Amino acid sequence: MTCFGLQHRRDAILSPEFAAPGRNVADAPRVGVLALQGDFREHRIMLERLGVVTSEVRRADAVAELDGLVIPGGESTTIGKLMLAYGFVDPIRAFAAAGGPVYGSCAGLIALAQTIAEGDPPQLSLMDIVARRNAFGRQIRSFEADLAIPALGDRPLRAIFIRAPWIEHAGSQVEILASVEGHGVAARQGRILVTAFHPELTDDTRVHALFLDSVREFCRERSMSASVESASVNEEVVS
Ligand code: GLN
Repeated sequence: MTCFGLQHRRDAILSPEFAAPGRNVADAPRVGVLALQGDFREHRIMLERLGVVTSEVRRADAVAELDGLVIPGGESTTIGKLMLAYGFVDPIRAFAAAGGPVYGSCAGLIALAQTIAEGDPPQLSLMDIVARRNAFGRQIRSFEADLAIPALGDRPLRAIFIRAPWIEHAGSQVEILASVEGHGVAARQGRILVTAFHPELTDDTRVHALFLDSVREFCRERSMSASVESASVNEEVVS
């Protein structure tokens, strides 16, 4: 029996919890997908295809245990309200401050922005960007495009935009990875990655793979500092 009855759901093929039975998960990075609203299931499928262990994050105290966090697409106002109501804001900000990688797609980009152009209160303020919601127009103006993203190689990425935001302005620490009509639609600042589009709805794993590079780097850093700590504890014991 799991907390959320996941064994009865269509996504029961995914590891419902980190300790997925029958899988060697001891060394696999643990990536949580915020599962308050939106397309968290599609992100999990993508990430598990890339060999990491995923979980649906519905409790704020789970955030500190992660090696990476994804904030999915959906409805940013709803996700923002639920993050506030369930006490996610401080734990996510603390996770990022400790170097934890966070990737936000579409509504996730809005959640991570320092400023929302429409004047809505910022949610996590983890990336120095101004995000404009529904920037390309209403639902009917949703579109797909082959996008050049040099950081992902020469082959363009088929990008799906659904009532997507764009990056109206970016601070000097932000690297714009792709643009449409002169506006940033993918960006990175340290280990925070955002896309205005939805790679999780395609078969192209390259954006998630880029995110996982940061996740693996974070894991390596953490295990190095853990071994330094245990070495100094041992020294204290010996001396
Ligand atoms: N337009 C939505 C919002 O402002 C985001 C849409 C999406 O995530 N596909 O929240």
